[in-house]
Order: sequence, then structure tokens, then C-alpha cells
Amino acid sequence: MDISRRSFIKWVIAGAASASPFGCAPAGKGKPAGPPAAGLASETKQVCHDVRDGLMKAFPPPSQSVDVVILGGGPSGLAAAERCFGTDFLLLEKEPHMGGNAWSESWNGLDYCTGSAWLSLENDEVKALFKRWNLEPPVIKGNDSAHWDGKWIKDFWNSDPDYPSYAQLPYPKSVSDDFRRFIRETAKLDRVKDANTLDNVAFSELFAGYDPRVKQYWDYFGPSNWGAKTHDTSALVGLRAVHEWAPCERRTFEGGLGMVARRLFAGFPESQKKRFITGAAAFGVRRDGKRVNVSFMKDGRPETVSAKAVVFCVPKFIARHLLTDIPENQAAAMAKMRYAPYLVYNFCFDKVVWNLNYDNWAIGAKHFTDFIPADWVTHGDGGDLGRKQIITVYAPKPEAARADLLDDEEVLGEAHATANELCGEFFPSWTDHLSEVRVYRRGHPMPMSAPGSFTRLQPVTQRDLPPIYFSHTDNSGAVSDMYEAALGAIKAAAKALRHV
Ligand SMILES: Cc1cc2nc3c(=O)[nH]c(=O)nc-3n(C[C@H](O)[C@H](O)[C@H](O)COP(=O)(O)OP(=O)(O)OC[C@H]3O[C@@H](n4cnc5c(N)ncnc54)[C@H](O)[C@@H]3O)c2cc1C
Repeated sequence: MDISRRSFIKWVIAGAASASPFGCAPAGKGKPAGPPAAGLASETKQVCHDVRDGLMKAFPPPSQSVDVVILGGGPSGLAAAERCFGTDFLLLEKEPHMGGNAWSESWNGLDYCTGSAWLSLENDEVKALFKRWNLEPPVIKGNDSAHWDGKWIKDFWNSDPDYPSYAQLPYPKSVSDDFRRFIRETAKLDRVKDANTLDNVAFSELFAGYDPRVKQYWDYFGPSNWGAKTHDTSALVGLRAVHEWAPCERRTFEGGLGMVARRLFAGFPESQKKRFITGAAAFGVRRDGKRVNVSFMKDGRPETVSAKAVVFCVPKFIARHLLTDIPENQAAAMAKMRYAPYLVYNFCFDKVVWNLNYDNWAIGAKHFTDFIPADWVTHGDGGDLGRKQIITVYAPKPEAARADLLDDEEVLGEAHATANELCGEFFPSWTDHLSEVRVYRRGHPMPMSAPGSFTRLQPVTQRDLPPIYFSHTDNSGAVSDMYEAALGAIKAAAKALRHV
């Protein structure tokens, strides 16, 4: 790729400086001369860091009072709020928009996601919820492809050991046989009866005696799906993916699940929208007799709202700092929850560059794990190949790299290395068509499905402290899923309303 690190970074910073409210460069007409335009966007973090560092000490007296305060406007908060329509509630969200990790942006009229990609509506409760919300994401065609030593294999993973894709691996037959043997032998483990035991074992332990490439596949798959490589993954979670992956029907909107959040919020009655406050970062939640005072920063000023009940739809790593009177064992369990940092890149092209599969696993890549054409759900059959296309590239990072994400130069260097790897090494023909790169960074977006999180930590962290009720995707479920988050939040909101 003929973009030097220096010029790439210069362009990204220029893009960010002239940013839209989302920190992205405005879309230019046609293809820019020289390196692609780019933008570096981030979640809002200052108040949360100040809370963590014990710097938020001034709690003003309440200036308003409501029945229920909902903290966080991600999918959980939105679902909880919708449950509260018709009552006296207030939702506080620190970002300038709703959606949390399900947040989509647009380029040249095309939508793309900075996080959450797809969901399944196979569960009846979720199907009913989406029907009530009047949202019906279309079905995603095909499965996932995977890359091995220069060869892309379409519809690669399938839980059926006799699936022909394994025979296409560019290795001796013994390697394909090991992929099949791994499926057959692990199918003998009882994922229901032995759920507790399996959840407390590292997934990596199940790969002894198989060709290392079997484990390597899951070391790419895990970080993008549940934030961890096999040694940091619960064997229960890994096994579920091995055996239940391919048969699941996947759905999304063009532009990913951020479009669910966007459409859901857009469809809310105008009379309710004034109850959603953006740019409001909570920094303290303290009991005051039977009420709870929630303090938050809005436009640089501290404010406090008094509530009869509070629903926490923010992650536990923040919740434990906001609320001071959590029982010791619960606070300790919250502190043990682990979260993966994440970079998501959106590479914007002036024509279609990829038309093989939806999610594509670049096994062996150094700087990313997988990528998704943002409009695949609409154009998976082909479509007009001259149309513009956005490729969403997922780059989950190890926890040890979290601090690097605070450094713009580090992030931009990583973005540059990813661009070089994707457009230089994997697909040299893409380079000439790259118009713009958009980078989105988050420090703790994905709860890791680490051994024991599901069966040992969650049952302790999720305990309600009435009139405070916990929700969020890290509250329940073996893997962070948007639908599970929404269902859990509706239950938490119902408890808060009963209390009121
Ligand atoms: C890269 C990535 C890809 C993913 N892909 C998928 C996928 O394909 N399918 C799927 O089902 N799930 C996916 N997920 C998970 C999915 O995004 C989450 O399950 C979902 O966003 C959870 O919603 P939530 O509301 O519980 O939490 P979040 O999305 O974390 O929302 C929490 C909200 O709380 C706000 N907040 C935090 N602190 C404060 C504070 N102090 N004051 C006020 N507000 C605060 C945040 O800004 C945020 O808006 C993915 C996640 C990531 C990061």
C-alpha cells in the first residue's frame, strides 16, 4: 500500500479535526487525491475515568425528582425505557447519542456499524419483542468464510463434522480430519448437565491432541465474538459456538445492529423523547432514606436527580464505582469481571471489493480478526458491483493493550498497520478504491466470556439492591448479546416499576 505512516496519520488527524459530531471526516465528492480521508472517533470517557480515580466529590442537592432513573442508553437502557413509557422516568446517557455498542454511522448515504453486527430471532420472547417494536431485520444469507494460507473458503464453519468445507483446507488430510474429529469428540460432552464444570474450564484445554490449526481458528473467532482467545474463554461458551454456530439463523439491517437502536429510538413517541438525556454522564448514585440520588455531569455542570428506583444499564466496571454501598462480595465479583478493548474500522470503498460471504475470518492476520461488508444483508446475492461499499473490520485487543487506546498516535499507527495488512497484503487490488477510513475505539466494550464469569461471577454481580436494579449485557447470559441485554433490562425495569 502506498500510504506512508506519517501521511496516513496526518490525514486521520485532519479528518478528526474537521469532524462531524461523530468525529468523522465529512464525505468528500469522488475519490480524494493522495491518501484516503479518515476519522478517529472514541467513546466519551473523561467523567468515568474521574469517577474511577475518586475525583468526583461534589454532589449537589437534587434539582428534580422522578420515579425511575435509567442509567445508560444502550440496547438495555432503550428496552428498559420503553417498558417505562407512560410513567415518570428519566434516562441518562453519557454519549451524545443512544445505542451504546450498537451504534451505526453513515458515509455517502451508506450505513455502517461501529460495533454490534447481527442477532437471531429464533427465541420466541425475542421474536415477540421485535414484533412489538415493529422491527424485522432481514435474514443474512450464507455462512462465514475463513482464510487459510492465502485461500478463502466460503461457508467455512459448520457443526456438522461431515461438512465438505474442511476438505478444502490447503493442508494434509490429517488436518481436515482433526477439524472433524474435534467436532465429533466434543459432541460427547454434556453441555447441559456439566454446564457449571465446563464453564470453569478454559476452552484451550480441549484442544490437546489436535492439530494446532483447530485451536487457531477459535483463537480468531473468540475475541471478535466474546472478547477472548481460547485460554481466556469458558469451555462451555466455546463448545456452544462449536456445536450451535452454523444452524442459527442470523439477522441484521444494512449497517448492523446500530440500526436497530437507531430505528427503535426514532419510532419512540415524541412525548417520551424528552425523558432521554444525552451527554449526561452519571458520577454518583447514593441512597437518601427511601430515595436514591443520582448525580451526573451535563454540559460541564454537576446535577442531581432524586428517584424512587434506579435501573443500572451500564457495565459493572462503572457501576461498582458509581454506587458506594455495594456488599463487599458483590463489589469484589464486579471487580473480577473482564472486558476486552476494541477497535472497529470502517473502510469505505468507491466500488464493491468483496462479495464472498458475510463474516470473513482472516486466520493468521496480525491486526484484525474478521470483516463484514456493511450492506451484505441487502446485496449478498451480488447487486450492482459498481456501487460504493463499506467493509467493517473488527480488531479486538488484549486487555493489556487497553492503555494504548488512550494514545491517538498508537491507535492511528495500529489503523495504518491494519490498512496495510488488509489492503496491502490480503487484497492489493483494494488499495486503489479506498476512499476513507473511519476508526472507532472503545476501552471496555465487550464483557469477556472468561472461565467462571457466567456461573460464578454473574450470579453475585447481578443481585438487586432494592430500589436499585441491575441490568446490562454483562448481567446475564454466557455471551454478550443484544437481545439478551434487552430482555434482561425489561425485567429489571418491571421490578423498578413494581417497587415504585
Ligand atoms: C465490537 C462489538 C461487536 C458486537 N457484536 C455483536 C453482535 O453481532 N450481536 C450481538 O447481539 N451483540 C454484539 N455485541 C454486543 C452488544 O453490542 C451488546 O450486547 C449490547 O450493546 C449491550 O447493550 P447494553 O445496553 O447492555 O450495553 P452497552 O451497549 O454497553 O450500553 C451501555 C450504555 O451505558 C452508557 N454509559 C456508560 N457509563 C455511563 C455513565 N456513567 N453515565 C451514563 N451513561 C453511561 C454507555 O455510553 C452506553 O451507551 C458486540 C459488541 C461489540 C463491542
